[in-house]
Amino acid sequence: MIRFREGESGSDERPIFETALRARCPRCGRGRLYDGALALRPACEVCGLDLAGQDPGDGPAVLGIFVLGFLLVPLSILFDWMFSPPLWLTTIIFAILLVGCAIFGLRVAKAAFIALNFRHRKDLS
Ligand SMILES: [Zn+2]
Repeated sequence: MIRFREGESGSDERPIFETALRARCPRCGRGRLYDGALALRPACEVCGLDLAGQDPGDGPAVLGIFVLGFLLVPLSILFDWMFSPPLWLTTIIFAILLVGCAIFGLRVAKAAFIALNFRHRKDLS
């Protein structure tokens, strides 16, 4: 069990997993993080946190490449081995699956990296 010293963990800190899944502002937990699919809003609509300064870097993309590559390549090989569909069908199915998983995973990972940056880099808040 992780214990915090007094003053380290206030009640205003949001759970990172929940904040990332809901794609909400890391400070207030209510404002939307994205304007569209993956574009960050310039600022939180509720608390005014500067979201343009919360750069997650390349971490979410690298994480997505590793996770999706690790999961989808063996899954496509298994799918092909089990059902022997035409190559075009496998390509279409896994291209759609890859794009959907990449967008959803990138949204969640980017929101998680922003929430972690916000929590641990106090110069950004
Ligand atoms: Zn906010």
